[in-house]
Amino acid sequence: MTETGKYKPATLMAQGLGWVDGGTGAVTTPVHPSTTFEHGSDFTYQRYGGPGHAQPEALLAALEGGAAARLFASGMAAATAVFLALEPGDHVIAPEVMYWALRKWLVESPERRGLEVSLVPNGDMDALRAALRPGKTRMVWVETPANPLWSITDIAETAAAAHEAGALLGIDSTVQTPVLTRPLELGADIVMHSASKYLNGHSDVLGGALITARDDDFWARVDMVRRENGAVLGAFEAWLLLRGLRTLALRVRAASANALAIAEHFHGHPKVAQVLYPGLPTHPGHEIAGRQMTGGFGGMLSLRVAGGEDAAIQVAAGTTLFKQATSLGGVESLIEHRAGSEGPSSPTPRDLLRLSVGIEDAGDLVSDLEAALEN
Ligand SMILES: *Cc1c(COP(=O)(O)O)cnc(C)c1O
Repeated sequence: MTETGKYKPATLMAQGLGWVDGGTGAVTTPVHPSTTFEHGSDFTYQRYGGPGHAQPEALLAALEGGAAARLFASGMAAATAVFLALEPGDHVIAPEVMYWALRKWLVESPERRGLEVSLVPNGDMDALRAALRPGKTRMVWVETPANPLWSITDIAETAAAAHEAGALLGIDSTVQTPVLTRPLELGADIVMHSASKYLNGHSDVLGGALITARDDDFWARVDMVRRENGAVLGAFEAWLLLRGLRTLALRVRAASANALAIAEHFHGHPKVAQVLYPGLPTHPGHEIAGRQMTGGFGGMLSLRVAGGEDAAIQVAAGTTLFKQATSLGGVESLIEHRAGSEGPSSPTPRDLLRLSVGIEDAGDLVSDLEAALEN
């Protein structure tokens, strides 16, 4: 299957682009752990990328509608490669609420990396326009829906504003996945995923991915950061990731349907102060999310527990099916008291529980939460 434009994403995913191993005819291509390759072949050294990277990278580029993709050792390695590819002194804009570890990396001594960083309220276009410095701002970073309030940012509008000021737009698309949103089509320049989450989907690979709209000088710099920092995905992980990608569409749709069922059930529940989920019409980002997400609103939601922080901690400890653990995007459901995990400087509300909804039976998941809330 070479003409990726001819087929729908579900077909590309199920077949992993339909590549077959040339030597054996195997329909699942082999793991290539060799670190080095004979001169004159297509590969040189595994740190520069090996044969096991080519197929999942081509698949991700096709799913996002990009020119090229690169796999990294983690989502953090992928995201930081984007910022490390900038010039010293460049100004970047990121949202106030975003994946905690990346926010920490950006705001704690950015000058060490030669960057100037401004944070703006998520989705606030006026604040973004005020923060943009034409000619100086090189990168606008957006996470949507954003951890852990699931606030929504309008990608097309942000792209227009960023481009007018001469900046690139990077999207952390981990939560929406290419199944629900294709940011490059909405004007973004680069898409980042923590492949540890939905792309792999089985909580057994740590990985990251970047997909670019154009194979240009900036992309060459990003690739150079991966080579020089040695932040490449391992050969076995690349193989597992490809296996996970084959069921991505099914998993994301099932998790989205379950998350919506849970959100609707607990909206207005006496023990729940607020359900944060972009699929609810009461969510401030619902209308924009409806425009830029197709086929669902994702598997992530948060509950603010009416009894406050202590009650929230008790609920998280009281579930049976929802395992109390960090991370997201696996087939199994997880629950986490985020403020506790993020530490004392966290801006996350203390009564908030973050739910990564898996693909179990929706009724079982609702009953599990009901029982924990009753205790
Ligand atoms: C997990 C995550 C990351 C970081 O990815 P790692 O693979 O853990 O390094 C970045 N952004 C979002 C939204 C995430 O959920």
